[in-house]
Amino acid sequence: MRDWLSYRAGIDPGRDALVDTTTDTSYTFDTVDTLVDDLAGRLASVGVDEGTHLGAVLRPCVEYVCLIHAAMRLGATLVPLDDRLTARELSAGMDAADVDTVVCDATTEDAVADAVAALDVETDGDGSAASIPVATVDEVGTDGVDPLSAVGPDPVRAASWSLEDTQLILFTSGTTGDPKPVRLTTGNLLASAAASVFRLGFDPDDRWLATLPLHHAGGISPILRMPIYGMTVVLREGFDAGATADDLDSYDATAVSVVPTMLRRMLDRRGTLAESLRVVLLGGAPASTQLIERCRNYSVPVFPTYGMTETASQIATARPEEAFRAPESVGRPLFLTEVTVVDGAGDPLPAGEAGELVVDGPTVTPGYYGDREATEAAFGEFGLHTGDVGVRTASGSITVLNRLDDRIVTGGENVDPGSVADVLADHPDVADAAVVGVPDAEWGERVSALLVPEPGVAPPDSGSDGATDRHLDPEDVRAFARDRLAGYKLPKSIAVADELPRTASGTVDRAAVRDRFPADPSATDVAD
Ligand code: ATP
Ligand code: MG
Repeated sequence: MRDWLSYRAGIDPGRDALVDTTTDTSYTFDTVDTLVDDLAGRLASVGVDEGTHLGAVLRPCVEYVCLIHAAMRLGATLVPLDDRLTARELSAGMDAADVDTVVCDATTEDAVADAVAALDVETDGDGSAASIPVATVDEVGTDGVDPLSAVGPDPVRAASWSLEDTQLILFTSGTTGDPKPVRLTTGNLLASAAASVFRLGFDPDDRWLATLPLHHAGGISPILRMPIYGMTVVLREGFDAGATADDLDSYDATAVSVVPTMLRRMLDRRGTLAESLRVVLLGGAPASTQLIERCRNYSVPVFPTYGMTETASQIATARPEEAFRAPESVGRPLFLTEVTVVDGAGDPLPAGEAGELVVDGPTVTPGYYGDREATEAAFGEFGLHTGDVGVRTASGSITVLNRLDDRIVTGGENVDPGSVADVLADHPDVADAAVVGVPDAEWGERVSALLVPEPGVAPPDSGSDGATDRHLDPEDVRAFARDRLAGYKLPKSIAVADELPRTASGTVDRAAVRDRFPADPSATDVAD
């Protein structure tokens, strides 16, 4: 197979491939193809070829988009790393993925140079071995980092791909431990692109606004699918609720991928989203039923999605009409993806019973890079064990309940923290809620809730400066929940915060939530 971008440039040279919102510039497929060829030549002249593990530590920009396709054209394996990582975290990532050349930009070159130096010292003791080459996409380099623009391009020998080639190594978010390097093959990426479009529908005039970080599966997907679908990517450098919502409007975006916090913030700012939108792909973390209902009320075409790095993004996706009927569900698995619900012994469970979600199909990674043990531990008879707990209806729709690690066992009863959080968030004074289990001598674990007040509602201990001041009253929230939840599910401790602590990808940082209990003096213990 030849590379997707050169094929697309051959058949649709004049179509818009990319719009850069920073400079308000459009690039056709032909132009992007030329830029990619030039960049591939420069990468080749610094030694990148088939088999190179090419680290990328950049902010989202046109050069990054070109770098992704240039690495693929050369047959290198791209390793996108979070550009906000510290030098120490970067070197851990480079080490785990055996990165042997790195491309950075002006915002990351210091951290990258430090990370590479630390890696050399670690490997050789004296730093004497040849250092990992680092180059920047910016015009001027410093500290021994050369700009790629300064090297003359070598002629490019475009690699031919097979379905089994590892195109990308993407790191998981590190919610349950250290981020894990996931191998994604040509076949995984193609299967994901195809299955996704079968569910989302295809429009040749789609304009996909890319605003998620490019080192995540959900962020890099539109960049990879741009030549596969022949669609236009509208690239934004980073997320800002108001500005992103405005860009959706002014660039007539038809699609966008967001995590729930981003969507909630955009709706808070703008009430609704651009009328041009056909698809709002919502995933990465559980979405509250409240958020889905807001989308229904404001005609936002939301596609709730369950996905993970190990499956190149989507596993299951609900269409808007399905989501509005069953807001807790993420719909049916995508075409050729199989989801089995298993019990603790790994045996399949019937519809309606909750257990671990196990996923199989052509989008599933062949394994973690360089970690046979983790790979073997993750795969069982029915496929990849996701570590997530869910249920399947008789018609095949999936509801993700929580992570296996997050399930609370209190007084011998299982409590699903997500459904308790959903009920608490339905209280008119509560904007957001997270529920965790905290070790407890009497109960084993104690159900504990961290609440975020609605705008204009003050935290409980903030005093009153007027008769009309609304305060968040934990007792009132608990009374509200008592009507809706079994007694053992009611939070025994409640704390209040301005915002829920979250990981970079938008999942609630549960360890940080747990840290708020019980030592936190603002936690209110509620008597049973
Ligand atoms: P790590 O694997 O390193 O612990 P992570 O699992 O958070 O981190 P990702 O691959 O980025 O890394 O995230 C995938 C996970 O995100 C899923 O396994 C699931 O727990 C969660 N997730 C994604 N979409 C949803 C959803 N719609 N509802 C609930 N959880 C979701
Ligand atoms: Mg995971």
